[in-house]
Amino acid sequence: MQLIPLDSVGFDREAWTDTLRVGANDAHRALQNAEKLPDWLKTKAGKFRQMADTDALLREQGIVTVCQEARCPNIGECWSHSTATFMIGGENCTRNCGFCNVSTQKPLALDATEPQRVALAAQKLGLKYVVITSVDRDDLADGGANHWVQTIESVRAALPDAKIEILTPDWRGNWDNLAIVAATRPDVYNHNIETVPSLYKWVRPGSSYARSLELLRRVKDFDSNIKTKSGLMLGLGEETAEVICVLEDLKAHGVDFVTIGQYLRPTPRHLPVKKYYPPSEFDELRVIGEKMGFAMVASGPFVRSSYHAGEDFSRAQGL
Ligand code: SF4
Repeated sequence: MQLIPLDSVGFDREAWTDTLRVGANDAHRALQNAEKLPDWLKTKAGKFRQMADTDALLREQGIVTVCQEARCPNIGECWSHSTATFMIGGENCTRNCGFCNVSTQKPLALDATEPQRVALAAQKLGLKYVVITSVDRDDLADGGANHWVQTIESVRAALPDAKIEILTPDWRGNWDNLAIVAATRPDVYNHNIETVPSLYKWVRPGSSYARSLELLRRVKDFDSNIKTKSGLMLGLGEETAEVICVLEDLKAHGVDFVTIGQYLRPTPRHLPVKKYYPPSEFDELRVIGEKMGFAMVASGPFVRSSYHAGEDFSRAQGL
């Protein structure tokens, strides 16, 4: 895929405002962050026609994606391949993580039509591997667990052969809610640890490193056939030795798959980047993780939980 100056291509700028806003263009991101990204972090513009098709389909179903909400740098590539990660439970989150671009506001009531709309969008995109995440809904007694179940069941009914990966909140340690969702037996249960414990109070205020580890262990205890997955971002000020300790903790809690990517500051309001790790350091961490015995370690500057998730799952399963 080649880098394309957006202005040199004829397209409906108004219709693309959202897509551009979320970072398909690295110049836009660099401008927003007022800092120069290293060469290895140049994003690739997507193929406009395919991106437009994905965008139109998602708009038609009123779908919220983490691709847009998180300003994911991979949106050009993923949407060009008709891949997106659904974000359910609304656009407002009850947490206020220092790295995350999702807005912190009082959430609205859950939309009962959302599970069906997500299923329809996944079906129309022809997904073989469906990744679903959500905002935190600490305002709800069940944390949104039953909405999750309805969404997973709707996707399964629409796409019986598709694999399903879910990326959930920590349920505030309410393990009954975890059990409600785990009982749907997704192929992969993902919960991101995000960073090293020493940075939690800045990066994930209101969350707990120990609680997230416990969640991952409890999923495995619930059903060892469910693959567990977790990810962390680098560049927030952690030491490499701390990252290795996190990998050891994840392994000790039965995690199967790990993702490691570069933190990119979504806006100047968010935590600054302390370090841009070169690809060679990501490679070193991948090797360390593989030696620890994880079934899959994806480590690279652009790696996100859902980036190439289907391919990674198939490879790990020897499919
Ligand atoms: S990596 Fe995930 S969040 Fe980012 S654009 Fe791709 S599917 Fe969306």
